[in-house]
Amino acid sequence: MTNLTVEAIELTRLYGGRPAVSDVSFNLTKGQVLGFLGPNGAGKSTTMKMLTGNLAPSAGSVKICGIDMIENPKEAKALIGYLPEMRPLYKELTVDEYLTIAARLHRVTGKHIKKAVENAKERCGLSHMSKRLIENLSNGYQQRVGIAQAIIHSPMVVILDEPTVGLDPIQIRDIRALIREIGGEHSVILSTHILPEVEMVCDHVQIIDKGKLVFNGGIDVLKRQRVGNKLLLGFNKAPTVAELLKIKGITEAEAVDANMMRIRFADGADDNKVAHEAIVQAAVKNKWGLFQIAPDHTSLEDVFVQLTYQDNAADTA
Ligand code: ADP
Repeated sequence: MTNLTVEAIELTRLYGGRPAVSDVSFNLTKGQVLGFLGPNGAGKSTTMKMLTGNLAPSAGSVKICGIDMIENPKEAKALIGYLPEMRPLYKELTVDEYLTIAARLHRVTGKHIKKAVENAKERCGLSHMSKRLIENLSNGYQQRVGIAQAIIHSPMVVILDEPTVGLDPIQIRDIRALIREIGGEHSVILSTHILPEVEMVCDHVQIIDKGKLVFNGGIDVLKRQRVGNKLLLGFNKAPTVAELLKIKGITEAEAVDANMMRIRFADGADDNKVAHEAIVQAAVKNKWGLFQIAPDHTSLEDVFVQLTYQDNAADTA
């Protein structure tokens, strides 16, 4: 019995000979919430469609709890709940009517349907909306109904494609809390282009760019990736950029304001030590009045741009 809920093995999808997704591999275990992040056109939806069995890969394979999606699609799909970007709602139905149909479509057996509907409504905070027509619900509640249909059969894996797009801040907060709660019992894949969402909801992140995975690891690892090679320096009599660049180990320098300078040095612990010491020595020698030397934490946005921009720069070079 495998502990893995999702195995994506060297997934590739070509459109007209051009790869939209190339050689993407990753695993997911129970209880993990994975953020699948990438700019528009990166290949997120194509990957989600292959994972859910809605699109055949040109090469590679998908296994859900060890069951091969191509060899046993019915069994594999039964273990997945999917909320596509376009919500699959019948707005002329009430919440109860719609969720009952969703339960049947997911092959919940007759005597278990009522319980499944009640359970999904309770988890998604919809119990008081049972008899309401879906078209009369707010955007946020309609999204809850979309999530309720994805978890109604208690699938092992829940896949949500851009679940908070178009919601207001309170609705976004509620839906994120709901996703975290679902993550306790299921594996969740959250496709999004919103970085703070990944930071708040996910424990693991993958970044895809131009069809290729450019990062696969924990959120903390992602944050650490670029932290440590930038410093924020405060001076009473700030030096010029040219003066800072003369210091051994410093590769970039810029003025933040009249007193603050941001510098970057080459990656590596030794470079870090050398640059710190050399800055202090130069500051004393030149009477720059150094009053602050602190790590400059790169934002997640910066990391994302660095990871995805490197390729773009190479392309246009
Ligand atoms: P994302 O979800 O990250 O925005 P997609 O998976 O939708 O990206 O698209 C990845 C790439 O594949 C894009 O360049 C897109 O134009 C292309 N693409 C997507 N679907 C099709 C299709 N049916 N036919 C041709 N090209 C497609």
